[in-house]
Amino acid sequence: MRRKLAVGNWKMHGLSPQLGEAEALSERHPDPACEIVLCPPATLISRMWELLIGSAIHLGGQDCHHADQGAHTGDISAAMLVDAGAEYVILGHSERRHDHGETDAHVAAKAAAAHSAGLVAILCLGETEAERDAGRTIAVVGDQLAGSLPEGASAANTVIAYEPIWAIGTGRTPTREQIAEVHGALRARLSDRLGSEGDGMRLLYGGSVKAENAREIFAIPDVDGALVGGASLKAGDFSAIVEALEAAPA
Ligand code: PEP
Repeated sequence: MRRKLAVGNWKMHGLSPQLGEAEALSERHPDPACEIVLCPPATLISRMWELLIGSAIHLGGQDCHHADQGAHTGDISAAMLVDAGAEYVILGHSERRHDHGETDAHVAAKAAAAHSAGLVAILCLGETEAERDAGRTIAVVGDQLAGSLPEGASAANTVIAYEPIWAIGTGRTPTREQIAEVHGALRARLSDRLGSEGDGMRLLYGGSVKAENAREIFAIPDVDGALVGGASLKAGDFSAIVEALEAAPA
């Protein structure tokens, strides 16, 4: 049984006043029927953690370095995220792959570091619009999965997020059939590689999820939840998505 999961990726948004949104979300969902994770900027993690002690909201980082420590100015290690109160970390987001040249090998090394520190790695995969138009979606995300998943990945320490790049922040979403096709293909590859651990690994959809489309997306087979960007910044918007997930078929 895969526990449903809603992850909010705040990206580079959020100053002290936005901590109130996290508090409001926790008040709306004291005992959720799914798991809820907020990934604020690293500067807010420890303060958010203090604010949410005793709540049902879990916290995550948006990236970590592959090394435990060292001369890496501006970077954050997995242990530092744990120290700040994080239990999850998003890795290989397309914005990091694009802005920071992260490859599948980098992502796999970061995921291994995250696992060693006790974090759950949320590994992001997704095709460009040109790759989809060329009929290469399944091959692209399959290769990303093969290259980004480290040895030792399990249902407990890894979550996969399928995020078509052309759907992120654009208001466009794939069709039901397109999401089902990719999630089905990812599930098959995970099961082939990891057996029952692959069957139990959660698969999130990400890309312009909002209250209006959440119910339809969560009804798609093998969609175990969502990675949400823009619509996670306001408690009311994210709460509506959480409610749709709570109501989704098991
Ligand atoms: C994301 O960045 O992971 C994302 C899914 O963004 P949005 O929901 O804004 O499309």
